[in-house]
Amino acid sequence: MRYPIIIQPDEQLRKPNQEIQELTDELVYLLDDMYETMLAHDGVGIAAPQIGKNLQMAVVEVDENDRFDLINPQIIDRKGKSVFVEGCLSIPHVFGTVERAEEITVRYYDREGDEMEVTAYGYLARAIQHEIDHLNGVLFTDKVLEAIPEEELENYYEEHEHD
Ligand SMILES: [Zn+2]
Repeated sequence: MRYPIIIQPDEQLRKPNQEIQELTDELVYLLDDMYETMLAHDGVGIAAPQIGKNLQMAVVEVDENDRFDLINPQIIDRKGKSVFVEGCLSIPHVFGTVERAEEITVRYYDREGDEMEVTAYGYLARAIQHEIDHLNGVLFTDKVLEAIPEEELENYYEEHEHD
């Protein structure tokens, strides 16, 4: 089932998000609904508060068929820095550069309830950091270094594709 995306400004995006204590079937279905909603909006990540559920859950899929269901995710290590443009399903038509760690190690529970640890680089690391920010009530616009007008996005990507 697709959910409507909560659009900023909405206090739902700023509320605390509850840790998952017990992974029920309903929550696993909710992950699938989040994924479906994300794909319907051409997103590469979505966090539960963006569909109005204040829970510590996010889904990220930067590369097709490489989906991460992140339950109670925590960044346990960060290395390097990188600056690149970001957008957000909850903030349509707004884009800007954000500094993120280049590499992160994340500990989380997967949809089977197994504790996982993954080290991610580059765009995947960026997407995971963006979603974990949502779980802390933080939006990328809180951190933007430079706004990029939507009509200049294509140019930006061309100029920075080898970064
Ligand atoms: Zn977002």
